[in-house]
Amino acid sequence: MLNIFFMKKILASLFIITLAACSSQQKNTATSVHTNMVADGKLFTAFFQQRAAEYKALCFQAYNIATLRLDQSLQVPSSKSKAVITDIDETLLDNSAYSVHQGLQGKDYDLATWTEWTALSQADTLAGALTFFKYAASRNVEVFYITNREEKERVGTLRNLQKFGFPYADETHLITKQTTSSKEARRLAVADKFDIALLLGDNLADFSMLFDKKTEVERLQNVQSNAAAFGKKFIVLPNPNYGDWESALYQYNYKLSAVQKDSAIRSVLKSY
Ligand SMILES: [Mg+2]
Repeated sequence: MLNIFFMKKILASLFIITLAACSSQQKNTATSVHTNMVADGKLFTAFFQQRAAEYKALCFQAYNIATLRLDQSLQVPSSKSKAVITDIDETLLDNSAYSVHQGLQGKDYDLATWTEWTALSQADTLAGALTFFKYAASRNVEVFYITNREEKERVGTLRNLQKFGFPYADETHLITKQTTSSKEARRLAVADKFDIALLLGDNLADFSMLFDKKTEVERLQNVQSNAAAFGKKFIVLPNPNYGDWESALYQYNYKLSAVQKDSAIRSVLKSY
């Protein structure tokens, strides 16, 4: 009898201990699980790109300023023909659908899936972009598309641009990445033959080698020392989804996992 009584007591205690353990585990899980800044964060920034009228307004603003500056440039005579140099992704094409596709799977960008996406030629245009480039062409200003899309993405990229009727969307004017992500040599090759009226991009490295693979501090300093060029020769499109502003934090280490990126971001965020 006594043994059965003690056995029951022990079993009851074990049951309570197990329940307590489970509940504390649940608590720990609840407090330690948080949104991944990269995968989930990119869903949120894609939400901004896809739904915010403010994003469209910012794009119109950039292209309105571009039009104004192009007109001003055309009033200044030059021995060379005028041209504009533009980036493609998040400057005139919207790739937020790719970010959503990745983010829904808890993933960030990777080259293999990105290449599958660009081969579809399904990216939409950014507000104001097509009107501006058509206007430039109407003023005999050639458009050079200098992109870090790779050579293997050429066919899909041209098809995407041609689908909307972007001017100069041809072999000569689409300048893809060959050996380096720096756009400097490619810019200089165009500048050799043309007077560059404007450069358009969402990433500082679209404008000058001053921003090639620089630290966060150097990027800030170089923006500061070139403040007058923005909205003048350099037309910046907003990109909250990705860019060197993010990569600089990771010291351009593209092999970090989403969890490592998440920690890096959280380690620099300020709160109060
Ligand atoms: Mg871009």
